[in-house]
Amino acid sequence: MRRKLVIGNWKMNGSRTGNTVLLSGIVAGLASAKADCAVCAPAPYLAQCQAELTGTPLAWGAQDVSAHASGAYTGEVAASMLQDFGCRYALVGHSERRAYHGESNAVVAQKAQAALAAGLIPVVCVGETLAEREAGQTGAVVGAQLQAVLDLLDNAALAKIVLAYEPVWAIGTGKTATPAMAQEVHALLRQQVAERSAEAASGMQILYGGSMKPENAGELLAQADIDGGLIGGAALKAADFLAIIRAAE
Ligand code: 13P
Repeated sequence: MRRKLVIGNWKMNGSRTGNTVLLSGIVAGLASAKADCAVCAPAPYLAQCQAELTGTPLAWGAQDVSAHASGAYTGEVAASMLQDFGCRYALVGHSERRAYHGESNAVVAQKAQAALAAGLIPVVCVGETLAEREAGQTGAVVGAQLQAVLDLLDNAALAKIVLAYEPVWAIGTGKTATPAMAQEVHALLRQQVAERSAEAASGMQILYGGSMKPENAGELLAQADIDGGLIGGAALKAADFLAIIRAAE
C-alpha cells in the first residue's frame, strides 16, 4: 500500500514574514496527518524552513537542483547544499523550468540523478501541453519525458524517485484533468516503469498536479494510481493546503 504524498510548490512566492504565518498555520493543523506532506520553497527560504519545520511532520524541499555536483556554475544550487539545509525533496523538470529555462528531458534526468546522489528524493515532473493533448500525443510526450529518466537511473535509484504528472494546460488555469483523464496517464506511467522494474513501479508515488483544490482533491486522490498531489496556488493558503492533505488520508 503506497502512502499518499502532498507537496506544495510555492513557485516564486513568499516572504520571510508571510512564510512564518503560512508554515505555522499548516503545522498547527497537521497534528494527526497520516499522509506525507512537504513544501517546496524558493531557495533563499530553505534555511527558514529548516529553522521553523525541524521536528514537525511537514518536510521541505527545493523547486529545482543543479545537474552538477559543485564548481563553476554561477547561479546554480547543488543537491548537497539542499541536503545541508535539511531538504527531503527536489522538484526536477517542472513544466515552467522546461518551458522558460529550456530544460531538456536529458537534463531533467541528470538533475534527478544529482538529487539522488546527495540523498534527496527527486520529484520528476512530466506533462503535455494543450496542443500536444489535442494532437493525441499525450502518451508519447510523457513517455519520452519518463524514458530519459529510465535510461539514466538503475533499478535501485528508480525505486527512490517520486513522479508527478502535471498537464501543462491544467497548471494555474483552473482547468483540472478529470479524475479519469489523470488516472489514464498515471496508469500509463506506472506501466512504463513496470516494464523496467515491477517492484519500483508498485512502490512509486505518482502525484497529480494542475489546479488541484479542496473541492476536487478527493475524487482525484481516490483514483487507483494517483498517490498524492503537487499543489501550486492552493498551497499558499494554509486552510486549502490542509484540506487537500486531509483529502489524501
Ligand atoms: P496550480 O495548482 O496552481 O495549478 O499549480 C500546479 C503546479 O504547477 C504545481 O507544481
